[in-house]
Amino acid sequence: MKVDKRQIALNRATVLKSRISDYIDARKLIPKGLEKTKEIDERKKKIMSILNATRADFVDWHWQLKNRIKDVETLKKILPLSELEIRHIEEVSKVYRWAISPYYLTLINPDDMVDPTRLMSIPSFLEMQKDLHNLDPMGEEFTNPAGSITRRYPDRLIINTTNECAMYCRHCQRRRNIGDIDKSSSQKKITESIEYIKNNEEIRDVLITGGDPLTLPNETLEWILKSLRAISHVEIIRIGSRMPVTLPYRITDKLVKMLKKYHPLYLNTHFNHPMEITEDSKKACEKLSNAGIIIGNQAVLLNGINNDKFVMRCLNQELLKIRVRPYYIFHAKTVKGTSHFNTSIDDGIEIMEYLRGYTSGMAIPYYIVNAPNGLGKTPILPEYIISRGKDSFTLRTWENEVIQYENHPSIPIIEIIQNEYKKKG
Ligand SMILES: *Cc1c(COP(=O)(O)O)cnc(C)c1O
Repeated sequence: MKVDKRQIALNRATVLKSRISDYIDARKLIPKGLEKTKEIDERKKKIMSILNATRADFVDWHWQLKNRIKDVETLKKILPLSELEIRHIEEVSKVYRWAISPYYLTLINPDDMVDPTRLMSIPSFLEMQKDLHNLDPMGEEFTNPAGSITRRYPDRLIINTTNECAMYCRHCQRRRNIGDIDKSSSQKKITESIEYIKNNEEIRDVLITGGDPLTLPNETLEWILKSLRAISHVEIIRIGSRMPVTLPYRITDKLVKMLKKYHPLYLNTHFNHPMEITEDSKKACEKLSNAGIIIGNQAVLLNGINNDKFVMRCLNQELLKIRVRPYYIFHAKTVKGTSHFNTSIDDGIEIMEYLRGYTSGMAIPYYIVNAPNGLGKTPILPEYIISRGKDSFTLRTWENEVIQYENHPSIPIIEIIQNEYKKKG
């Protein structure tokens, strides 16, 4: 009997189509910043009038930083808040600092109490819940060999340059560093950090982070970049910044013109929800990409925000549209005051399981659990190896088909080639 190859392919396509129909329906219900430009613009106008700002003010990052909302009186003019919510926010304010850029407030749908951008920015009574967690589960305090460095790996390290951010995320894992006032690490500490890198030749990758290093003036940033570039063994420099998400106007032409003098330069940012990907953040990412800066995303898996296979898939696909490559999904650490955001590791595995095969490999980051006491990032994967035999592996595919795969040792081709020509000349 003749096999109808076309018919087989058509049947397979029908099966594949059935594998995506649930997502196509679910995606429609996920709020996406790029589809909400009109609403965001309306909220911008409202906030500008409340804060007495012109459009030129609003898109000026200095204005945005200076006018971060950090008191309930101003916040309640922008977002309708009940008496109870106001009391809750005031209670949290006594323990944990908060501040939100006027830009980020435009993302919040005021009618939705559990809007993901609201949960990430507005202080919640859940932060006051009793938990057994402490403020430094990573033991970062014990991995600081010099200046403001955190070192956990053989060939790379972090320099903390400031504790300031455009917004103090409610899920912040470094809230112990945030303190009550903005302060950048002293020039002395940064100089000490740079000295340490200079004296340790194995350091080839330096991450500039904080807080948010892009709160620093261009001149300070340039001084740091220039000093690092003067060290011959520093191969790559990475900036960790949430500005493309929380204050995209920080990414100015002037900034990228300066940054691109210090290539190879990478920037890792932190989008957690498709609603955060807006026209403004898209423009910011475009400026960076056009200057040759490669952007990665380090999301955090957050209960109630993105611990959903459809939301996470949508987020990673939206990121690729703005040329940001999903890099990591971090399992939320157990930091005091943030325990309501913690998910199970099972949630993370389910999401990873649902990405591979179902969407572009480009849209699949690594899922990482940070080992306690600074022991480093540990990748968690769904299990694809069912068993390993002597000459074969039993594997399963993304659709749970169980397959046998032969496994033989590699042949020593270098020796074989050399011997062949030694013999015959
Ligand atoms: C996360 C981290 C890095 C970078 O790790 P990569 O896996 O290379 O992205 C480097 N140093 C410290 C201390 C870190 O926490």
